[in-house]
Amino acid sequence: MTSPTAAWTALRTAMLDATPACSGDARFIADDSDPEPLTEICRGCPLLAPCSALAETGNVLPVFGIVAGQVRRGNRSSGLMNAKAMGRLVGA
Ligand code: SF4
Repeated sequence: MTSPTAAWTALRTAMLDATPACSGDARFIADDSDPEPLTEICRGCPLLAPCSALAETGNVLPVFGIVAGQVRRGNRSSGLMNAKAMGRLVGA
């Protein structure tokens, strides 16, 4: 498995050439978003592969919101913390 650091570096490098499809879309970190249209956006995102690779490492990406086409729901405290991290990732 790819290390979280390597996966994060790969995603950041890919972001030099492509913009995340979720960029600026606050629905990705909202508590009450309908996941279906958001997962569809992820499926068309040019960064799906590196985003998925980072998500699969399990300990760096947020565990709350929509990530790489998957719905993630952490506990309340991790959700709050990770929503901020997700905001930095997607620019929301
Ligand atoms: S969560 Fe990942 S795959 Fe989905 S739109 Fe954002 S960068 Fe792309």
